[in-house]
Amino acid sequence: MAKKKKRVGIFSFTCDEGCSIFLVEIFNKKLAGWLEKIELVYFLSIKDHTDAKNMDIAVVEGSITSEEDKKRIENIRKNSKILIGMGSCAITGMPSCYRNNLNKEQLKEISGHLKKFKFLPKCMGIKEVVKLDGEVPGCPMDDKKFIEVFEKYI
Ligand code: SF4
Repeated sequence: MAKKKKRVGIFSFTCDEGCSIFLVEIFNKKLAGWLEKIELVYFLSIKDHTDAKNMDIAVVEGSITSEEDKKRIENIRKNSKILIGMGSCAITGMPSCYRNNLNKEQLKEISGHLKKFKFLPKCMGIKEVVKLDGEVPGCPMDDKKFIEVFEKYI
């Protein structure tokens, strides 16, 4: 009997989505081979599916900056056996969490936006909010490391 394909979802949180763009480049070379082992169930950069439940692997980029982000990542964590953080934003929060370094005056200037979009008092890397099983550092992420970490789980 053929082995069941791993259900994989790719998700972006607050960031410039540079790692997703990098991932598309990696997919150009590797996806055809990987598709023998995986089913891509969620990746809005290249397909329009919204089936983000019962995943084997979720790959996430970006930072957690609002209540909505926090709820969403907690839900993805619940719905995936393995969670891989791609890029330094996911692991350390930087550079996307730059607002954590603003001084009082600068924060006052943007306080209206923080309130309007229900931003959390502190911006966090995904790793600070939920457990990551795999990490791919770099800004943008290191492509060789991504392949190594991803292939370990598929
Ligand atoms: S780690 Fe760098 S490239 Fe990746 S999402 Fe963050 S800012 Fe963009």
